[in-house]
Amino acid sequence: PVILGIESSCDETSASVCMNGEILSNVIANQTIHEAYGGVVPELASRVHQQNIIPAVQQAISKAKVNKNDIDAVAFTRGPGLLGSLLVGVSFAKSFALALDKPLIEVNHMQGHVLAHFIGDHKPSFPFLCLTVSGGHTQIVLVKDYFDMEIIGQTTDDAAGEALDKTSKVLGLPYPGGPLIDKYARQGNRGAYKFPEPQIPNYDFSFSGLKTSIMYFIRDNVKTNPDFLQENMADICASVEYRVVTILLNKLKRAAIEYGIKDIALAGGVSANTGLRQGLTELCEQQGWNAFIPKFEYCTDNAAMIAIAGYYKYLKGEFVGQDIAPLARMPF
Ligand code: ATP
Ligand code: MG
Ligand code: FE
Repeated sequence: PVILGIESSCDETSASVCMNGEILSNVIANQTIHEAYGGVVPELASRVHQQNIIPAVQQAISKAKVNKNDIDAVAFTRGPGLLGSLLVGVSFAKSFALALDKPLIEVNHMQGHVLAHFIGDHKPSFPFLCLTVSGGHTQIVLVKDYFDMEIIGQTTDDAAGEALDKTSKVLGLPYPGGPLIDKYARQGNRGAYKFPEPQIPNYDFSFSGLKTSIMYFIRDNVKTNPDFLQENMADICASVEYRVVTILLNKLKRAAIEYGIKDIALAGGVSANTGLRQGLTELCEQQGWNAFIPKFEYCTDNAAMIAIAGYYKYLKGEFVGQDIAPLARMPF
């Protein structure tokens, strides 16, 4: 089957065409308007989605060299995400399906991030563990089957990506800060400064304390040296990144040992981070586990992950009707 995938949960408008489980196109329109505000402005995001969605879909279809009548189903992100943003993608998917008389498939965005691992040949086998780390979520997911997933640990406050973005704001870096922290960290010494590791039970996480300790650390050091930040940016970023990565991987390692699982995957925007990718690779080499790390274009928000998830739902015959509505919060 040919599946058209639509993603619009946050600030990326994306469309993708998948044929028999193979991704033929993945068009992503990024929104730059939010940079001036230091974070995504929901009202602006939905307006830009409205401008971008038709060109993105047209490009995805033409790059895939298919005809829109060849499409067998339309898969879309139903949630979780920003309601106004989701509405644009959901409404588009519904109109497209109605006009061309095609079935609709709803996809959970967080399951989409996990199922991105089924693009390409290097696929994990069930059950596997997936650390999903993004702008809004930090989860250790026990993946028993394509749509049978259990969250065994998650953040109790900020998400990992949110912590990086907020820290970068404190460091005076522009939004989104995650990629910039990555860039500076590559030139720094990760052992230069020690930030605390929170003591949280089970497989849960907390990142709000880290953000606060970094704020005080900067404030105290700038008092004695006004140029402290500029002079030590690389070391600070390397140390912050190292702490975030060790918090994540220590819990993931424990979960893998206790559940006896050897296939370990990363997903979500923060899985684009160099330190995290290297850290998981090393951990898996040490332990004799298999690491699954997505290609960069499938880490941050994209419609290919929605299209591949849609493909597996198509095989099961799981469709939804025109009465479907987006959900800002959506459990698995
Ligand atoms: P969610 O998936 O939880 O709804 P989202 O869709 O906004 O949230 P993604 O697009 O999956 O999140 O990821 C965005 C996050 O990834 C941002 O916090 C960003 O800073 C972070 N990020 C992207 N690239 C990197 C990188 N190289 N290093 C660290 N963080 C990164
Ligand atoms: Mg985004
Ligand atoms: Fe996402």
